[in-house]
Amino acid sequence: MKKIYLDTAATTPLSEKAFGAMLPFFKDAFYNASAAYSDAGKVARALREFRSRVAGILNAQASEIIFTSGASESNNTAIKGVFAKIFRSKKHFVTTAIEHESVLKTAEYLGTFGIETTYLPVDSSGRISLSDLKKSIRNDTALVSIMLVNNEIGTIEPVEEAAEICRERGVLLHTDATQGIGHLAIDVKKLGVDFLSLSAHKFHGPKGSGLLYVKSGSSSGSLVHGGPQESGRRAGTENLPGIAGLTSALEDCARAYAEKGEELRKMQNKFVRSLYQIEGLEFNGSLEERIPGNLNFRIGGKSPVNGESLRIMLENRGILVSKGSACNTGADSPSHVLLAMGKSAEEARNSIRISFDLTTRNEDISEAASIIAESAEFLRHERIFA
Ligand code: PMP
Repeated sequence: MKKIYLDTAATTPLSEKAFGAMLPFFKDAFYNASAAYSDAGKVARALREFRSRVAGILNAQASEIIFTSGASESNNTAIKGVFAKIFRSKKHFVTTAIEHESVLKTAEYLGTFGIETTYLPVDSSGRISLSDLKKSIRNDTALVSIMLVNNEIGTIEPVEEAAEICRERGVLLHTDATQGIGHLAIDVKKLGVDFLSLSAHKFHGPKGSGLLYVKSGSSSGSLVHGGPQESGRRAGTENLPGIAGLTSALEDCARAYAEKGEELRKMQNKFVRSLYQIEGLEFNGSLEERIPGNLNFRIGGKSPVNGESLRIMLENRGILVSKGSACNTGADSPSHVLLAMGKSAEEARNSIRISFDLTTRNEDISEAASIIAESAEFLRHERIFA
């Protein structure tokens, strides 16, 4: 059976090019970048080159890039790292109610050490308010963390504006940009953030490879202590294959977005128009302030369609979609993001996320839209005549 993969927000397949870039570091160039002999020196040079190529894409300096195992580690490092340095004088953290678990669980953990967190609410479109942010900042606030793009609903948060507020108040700002890359141009200077997290497998790089941008001069500590790698900010022998794959995939996705980003928007508009034909379909989240490539909806109306039944039916017809964050799969609890937007538990449970990127084919989008319409119709009738 033909499969149409529409869950790129969960992960993406490794590109052939990124795979090719990784291979030498499993084989001939396997040396430890810190070893003294000249073969290892070549690996250390490659590592320096990858760091500056990645920095170039993000408009950062090479010394501001820390390679990590992914966005979960990057988020943990940014947040715990700040509080490890200044917890004696500042004990307040501000984040949003719709962050990824790697931010929310970190805040919960910090609570056991007396760090207090304020969770900014979101409106019905899934966006925070800047006046809430202004009100939340206290004299003892050390850090604010606001995601650039929400993983479940694709909405873009006002990070650039938040950075201005944080700068004025002398507070550091972290953004989890994991879902933005490939769907937005990401420039750390333009965003004005102090920390930014990314994960390679969301843009056709390998799993287990990510990065944290740390603005030069920002006060932050390390999560992993040990050797002097990553300038002492993340101990452990560097994952050269992972870093090579991340660099290659990041370059390709930034180039593809610059050249063809508009196509993604057109694809999304077409998808939205087709889905709107389905009776009772309601999108979750703002349709304006969102990245192209992430749509979250439910089929409501007089006889709502059960989200899990729809997902299973789509899977049986080869369409792979999700019910929200892959990190919550298995838990029957409704999405914390949709609940924060004011949706009921039933509405949240009935919601489906469809995500795609520039590697998704236009004809697959059209085929998926027809199959979603047919499946919704079938499930509705089945329910009425059950
Ligand atoms: N933040 C966001 C917004 C994400 O979508 C994810 C992945 N679902 C992560 C962080 C964590 O990334 P990883 O699992 O690669 O550590």
